[in-house]
Amino acid sequence: MEASEKDQLKELRDRLMVSPRLVWDQADPATLEAIMAYGEQYKIFLDRAKTEREAVAEIERQAKARGFVDLAAGIPGPKTYYNYKGKTMILTVRGRRPLSEGLRLVAVHIDSPRLDLKQYPVYEDTDLAFLKTHYYGGIKKYQWLARPLAIHGVILKADGTKVELTIGEDHSDPVFTVCDLLPHLARKLQMDKKLSEAIEGEKLNVLVGSLPLGDKETKERFKLYLLKHLEEKYGIREEDFISAELEIVPAGPARDLGWDRSLVGGYGQDDRSCAYAALEAILAAPEPEYTSLALFYDKEEVGSDGNTAAKSCLLEEIVETLLERAGESPQARRRSLMASLALSGDVTGALDPDYPEVHEKRNAARLGYGVAFHKYGGSGGKYNTNDANAEYVAWIRKIFQEYNVVWQAGQLGKVDEGGGGTIAKYLAIHGMEILDCGTPLLSMHSPFEVASKADLYMTFKAYQAFFNAI
Ligand code: MN
Ligand code: MN
Repeated sequence: MEASEKDQLKELRDRLMVSPRLVWDQADPATLEAIMAYGEQYKIFLDRAKTEREAVAEIERQAKARGFVDLAAGIPGPKTYYNYKGKTMILTVRGRRPLSEGLRLVAVHIDSPRLDLKQYPVYEDTDLAFLKTHYYGGIKKYQWLARPLAIHGVILKADGTKVELTIGEDHSDPVFTVCDLLPHLARKLQMDKKLSEAIEGEKLNVLVGSLPLGDKETKERFKLYLLKHLEEKYGIREEDFISAELEIVPAGPARDLGWDRSLVGGYGQDDRSCAYAALEAILAAPEPEYTSLALFYDKEEVGSDGNTAAKSCLLEEIVETLLERAGESPQARRRSLMASLALSGDVTGALDPDYPEVHEKRNAARLGYGVAFHKYGGSGGKYNTNDANAEYVAWIRKIFQEYNVVWQAGQLGKVDEGGGGTIAKYLAIHGMEILDCGTPLLSMHSPFEVASKADLYMTFKAYQAFFNAI
């Protein structure tokens, strides 16, 4: 082959074929610095926002500091926040155009898989005190055994007093754990079983103490010790657990991962990687062309049911309020939503080199290759998913190009392998254009999820481009 022919073929290949772009190859020194700086702030957010309630509080704190005012209080202003029941948050930035011409929405979720306490959680057995749990969302139960755990949440007393509690995060705090069976005795009960059956949900009991109160004559004296301690410390009684929301999460902070510190390891990155990106993007939004909303939803991990979830009427109510405040007719709510463009910001499973057999590698997202979007998700046969319109996907490609966002198209696993859903389909009901777009993760849904700092930053860049693009 002659040199000129080789050049021609190379030119043809470059022009016609897709070549995945590694963020690290693309980034100039300023971008590298921005990627690392973003990672530092992101880890702080993860540590402050381990539950949906904590995420809402942290988002509200940051929004207020940046001049956002309370929409519910009716304070006028171009930037507002709406804290719904302390579990769902909506930030808005008014745009130049009328709302009836459509909105820009980035919708994420702020709940993560965990263990919730039952209504009557406290008991003792074999002279030890325990709490009973019911797991929340899709967990692999074995991952929650034999590791330090923290308790975060609230207890509402019958008189309405709220006790907020975080224990297990500070170095001086005690932690808790779910004990696992020693391997010596686990052959029949665990090792010979299917992984899905080896650990029973009813055995996810959290060890919380071993001191007794009184003497041998005292009934349930280990449980009694614990209840006395809880009364002294928090002023609560056993019955107060009935109106409590206490969540057991992995103890400890998010960490840099790898000698090169290019990755972040930590709990709850599904979906707080996208939540933080959405927060940063909307906080930084100058007066945009279209009114922009960042929606931080609860209950995605359990199917988006309930009044703080994406299936609720909350968005419609907010849009009506915004229309009224802008002097537009609330009747335009439906028109506004139908004319809207949205990104459903949620993570996706990255190609795992140890388990390539579950991925279809041409269509799998890869760590380090930027923010990943899915045209559709769901499972075998494209059930239970939004399938974004080609016209809209084309527009997203265009704006990502314009704003130097490094992106990839990625899908979760082989066609018949399993699958998963996002909130995109619940927002699509309103008629808006919507595309799934978020950070690829390894060890997704585990107590220690892994993200690339490059992809985290590109997720933020993607949402920022989306809010700013005309
Ligand atoms: Mn998610
Ligand atoms: Mn999830």
